[in-house]
Amino acid sequence: MQQGREVAVLRLGHRPGRDNRMTTHVGLTARALGADRIVLAGSADGPQETIEGVTDRFGGPFSVEQTSEPKAVLRRFEGRVAHLTMYGLPIQDVEGPIRRAHREEPLLVVVGAEKVPFDVYERADWNVGVTNQPHSEVAGLAVFLDRLFEGRELDREWIDADRQVIPTATGKRVEPADEDGGD
Ligand code: SAM
Repeated sequence: MQQGREVAVLRLGHRPGRDNRMTTHVGLTARALGADRIVLAGSADGPQETIEGVTDRFGGPFSVEQTSEPKAVLRRFEGRVAHLTMYGLPIQDVEGPIRRAHREEPLLVVVGAEKVPFDVYERADWNVGVTNQPHSEVAGLAVFLDRLFEGRELDREWIDADRQVIPTATGKRVEPADEDGGD
């Protein structure tokens, strides 16, 4: 988003086929709620295509990459790392320090699928629990980003969109996006 440093999301443990829908939703949630880019670990051609298609139609900026070396992504990331896990410290206790750090440095938000290797817990600057109950990487990411941006992501502008949704109380209204590039 426009304010603060870059926010990237690293999606670990994608299992081709089986996780396609969940990985796609992680990417769409990252985009919609203010992250700048997502890195998908493993072969995730379908999710990448879907997320990029949504960005083409509804705007960005947002980019999608794939990596076969997620550990190298973590090791080389020049910034701070927040790993979302049910075993982590409560988000309400660590969101302040994370927000303050994000004013100065890029932030990588890591979410898993299956079991996450222990070295991710060790590399993370914060292991963050969105509750300490098991749920979903999509839900965890959504709550985390909303806390990080304190709701500002809900009012963001979209660049280079083909179309825009006009909010209505009832029904569906979609129009060509304004030509000035905003929304
Ligand atoms: N045992 C796993 C764990 O470490 O959280 C649960 C696996 S869960 C199916 C897949 C992913 O959802 C996790 O890797 C984590 O990123 C996210 N997740 C699930 N519950 C969470 C919670 N309470 N807080 C934060 N993230 C959570």
